[in-house]
Amino acid sequence: MRKNIIAGNWKMNTTLPEGLALAKGLNEALIGKALACDVVIGVPFIHLATIAGAIDTAKIGVAAQNCADKEKGAYTGEVSAAMIASTGAKYVILGHSERRQYYHETSATLKTKVNLALANGLTPIFCIGEVLEEREKGKHFDVVDEQISNALFDLPAEEFARLVIAYEPVWAIGTGRTATADQAQEIHAHIRQTIAAKYGDDLAAETTILYGGSMNAENAKDLVAKPDVDGGLIGGASLSVGKFLPIIEAF
Ligand code: PEP
Repeated sequence: MRKNIIAGNWKMNTTLPEGLALAKGLNEALIGKALACDVVIGVPFIHLATIAGAIDTAKIGVAAQNCADKEKGAYTGEVSAAMIASTGAKYVILGHSERRQYYHETSATLKTKVNLALANGLTPIFCIGEVLEEREKGKHFDVVDEQISNALFDLPAEEFARLVIAYEPVWAIGTGRTATADQAQEIHAHIRQTIAAKYGDDLAAETTILYGGSMNAENAKDLVAKPDVDGGLIGGASLSVGKFLPIIEAF
């Protein structure tokens, strides 16, 4: 079902005590507030169980930032979707551009990860987005279409309906350079069209599509005011309650 969501991606930041303090601080700040969006925090693996046990997870969903592409077994250092689900986490960020770039994740791997996440009751927040060169050559529409169709379009409609999509232009991640609200709306509408062409208008209208890339307290209102922008995936600004809260309150 389509929802407004503001999701944080802490990346490889915070020790466990720091992360716990940040999560508790956010939990505290949200007490008594009537929110117009769901709130999610994407935390390091080792924080998952501790944070999920320390906050009101009905108010703040907990997400992992990756999962293994194997179910279980002799894969030293990997963390399975079942392990993530067992901590109380409800979401997993998959296909983030940093994982595609630095860990060479392909659509084939991501397809397996999405299937495992869904099979274990997790909601994948599936990231797509073009690099600067692709945008400059006008290829961004084709790039996101390929990323979606290669990794996701083998899913039956009822499984696809459980996903959240996050459009994150790589040139806007961590750079301070945000897509304009009009640029975000244009490509979000395109993504919704691509989903409609495969699964029909109803499912496309029910799909949550987040924007990510240097979203902050200043630009969040304009972005979420756009009809096809259902919220955001926020990196840097999710590492402080003071910066994250105004984004949550942008709805
Ligand atoms: C991200 O990592 O998904 C992201 C959008 O980062 P930032 O908000 O820092 O650009």
